[in-house]
Amino acid sequence: MSLQRRHFDSLILGAGGAGLRAALQLAEAEARVAVVSKVFPTRSHTVAAQGGVNAALANVSADNWHWHMYDTVKGSDYLGDQDAIEYMCRAASNIVYELEHYGVPFSRLENGRIYQRPFGGQSQNFGGDQASRTCAAADRTGHAILHSLYQQNIRAKTHFFDEYFAIDLIRDAEGVILGALVLDIASGEPLLIEAKTTLIATGGCGQLFRTNTNTNTNTNAHINTGDGMAMALRAGIPLQDMEFFQFHPTGIAGKGMLITEGARGEGGYLINAEGERFMERYAPNARDLASRDVVSRSIATEIREGRGCGPDKDHVLLKVDHLGEAVVAKRLPGIRDTCRTFLHIDPASEPIPVFPTAHYVMGGIPSNRFGEVVVPVGEGPEEAIPGLYAAGECACVSIHGANRLGGNSLLDILVFGRAAGNRIIDYLKQNRFHRPMSESSLEAAMARLQRWDQAGDGERVDQLSSDLKRVMESHCGVFRTEQVMHEGIEALQQLRRRMAEVRLNDSSKVFNTARVEALELENLMDIAMATMMAAEARQESRGAHSRVDYPERDDSNWLKHSLYFLQDDQLEFKPVRTNPLSVESFPPKPRVY
Ligand SMILES: Cc1cc2nc3c(=O)[nH]c(=O)nc-3n(C[C@H](O)[C@H](O)[C@H](O)COP(=O)(O)OP(=O)(O)OC[C@H]3O[C@@H](n4cnc5c(N)ncnc54)[C@H](O)[C@@H]3O)c2cc1C
Repeated sequence: MSLQRRHFDSLILGAGGAGLRAALQLAEAEARVAVVSKVFPTRSHTVAAQGGVNAALANVSADNWHWHMYDTVKGSDYLGDQDAIEYMCRAASNIVYELEHYGVPFSRLENGRIYQRPFGGQSQNFGGDQASRTCAAADRTGHAILHSLYQQNIRAKTHFFDEYFAIDLIRDAEGVILGALVLDIASGEPLLIEAKTTLIATGGCGQLFRTNTNTNTNTNAHINTGDGMAMALRAGIPLQDMEFFQFHPTGIAGKGMLITEGARGEGGYLINAEGERFMERYAPNARDLASRDVVSRSIATEIREGRGCGPDKDHVLLKVDHLGEAVVAKRLPGIRDTCRTFLHIDPASEPIPVFPTAHYVMGGIPSNRFGEVVVPVGEGPEEAIPGLYAAGECACVSIHGANRLGGNSLLDILVFGRAAGNRIIDYLKQNRFHRPMSESSLEAAMARLQRWDQAGDGERVDQLSSDLKRVMESHCGVFRTEQVMHEGIEALQQLRRRMAEVRLNDSSKVFNTARVEALELENLMDIAMATMMAAEARQESRGAHSRVDYPERDDSNWLKHSLYFLQDDQLEFKPVRTNPLSVESFPPKPRVY
């Protein structure tokens, strides 16, 4: 059967908040836009976001975008690019009002304004009050946002390919991106989508780390396998700052489901086995609302020093029971459900056992504040790849630098999803025709799919997948050293060799999820190597990257972004953009909370 083809102005890979916000911008501008998602759009991981989205609306405390910018630069441990951070913080209020008009049912204050709660890393020093910057729809904010955006896209007539798996980007000889080869999961047939522009919005890669062991868990959906990042790598594009992976301080111990930072924002706090509020020792001012890297390391240290709770002293407790039943019911109904379902406890009357859990990737596809994918060209300035864009968790703009603040990712995906949409509209005005696609430009993508038609005995996907996760957690976790990561790289090289021997037991076509899992595992392998290589190279501690052998931040040598290229596992570096757009730069200072 010949390969089916479809043509669109614009192709968007991913139907999370980033993909849907971009699609809406394009559909409203009357571009023909296709959105491809490997799951039904409203099952994208954005749906799981709990706590909220940051914007300096000043509904609860004094606030403005400049303070938000300062907190974000400080939170990033000065690795964030300040032009992009300024752009995002300035855009935030309008983005939230826009959501409200799309139908997001934000929680309300008595006076009818949007409810805002304090979150980690938000400054405290304005008149001594804690800033309350995180706009929330109870603790189901992502759910509300994703459903509203999906409905708006249906109204605007965006074309959806639900349950289609993107395999690879298609590039011509000049490096222009012409669309993507995708797989119809239901029929098992490939489909070629040709487009004048392609936006990668495929989300994060939390599945690098294990689920369901006592001490190693992640909060991410099973679909978060970094597919778009790996597609970029195979197209010769590097990944930026992959050594920075965020561990969220409060996953349910031994299980990993997230308990939102909003629980601490509402007044919850952590205690150790002695009943002590230990965060007072690590972050005397911000205490439980210090940034996530700081709180996660503090919990890990308490446990390592023997002050963990429970028979195995392997977790700490998060108390919200003192807040009263009414606050828990009104502001934290989702985490109450989660605790009842998975722990059989009611957090309104009992503390929650928690432990840090793998949560968010700060690194990703290098992009700028217009959503364009940018790559270094010789010694000159970086250049945008024609027709290719990236937004959301898979992109590295870089807003979050070495550590993301809670509530800033929902903002990031919306601001830069929208910005990418606008940039694409401009590009489409100047590039009105599809470029010709030669058969040879399809070969690599087709081969990648056909490789899984080989049946027979061999290594198994699930075995390799759990070996990969074990290597990541034991060689690239919260605390890192040279020797351990060096061994980790060797272990990954061995896994790569074994990957060539993997075979599927089931070679049928119709809804063959084994084939999809195999393609996802290949993607995770490359991302694991990017993460480990960049982590081994960075000889300092900054944000989420904590080196036992290099405990200090080193601005004179390491205030720079890493770039990992798949070809020859090569690493390069590029400078941080320290100049904002209109205000003065925030120079690096010691980071204390
Ligand atoms: C439990 C949890 C709670 C969170 N809470 C908050 C919060 O309160 N505030 C905050 O700011 N941030 C929060 N975050 C982070 C934030 O939700 C995510 O970073 C963000 O939603 C990612 O959005 P996205 O659009 O980039 O990707 P996603 O929402 O992950 O969507 C990715 C899309 O790509 C598609 N896709 C991926 N690979 C393929 C492929 N190969 N082919 C086809 N489609 C593909 C998927 O189907 C999906 O549609 C939370 C994260 C988690 C895990």
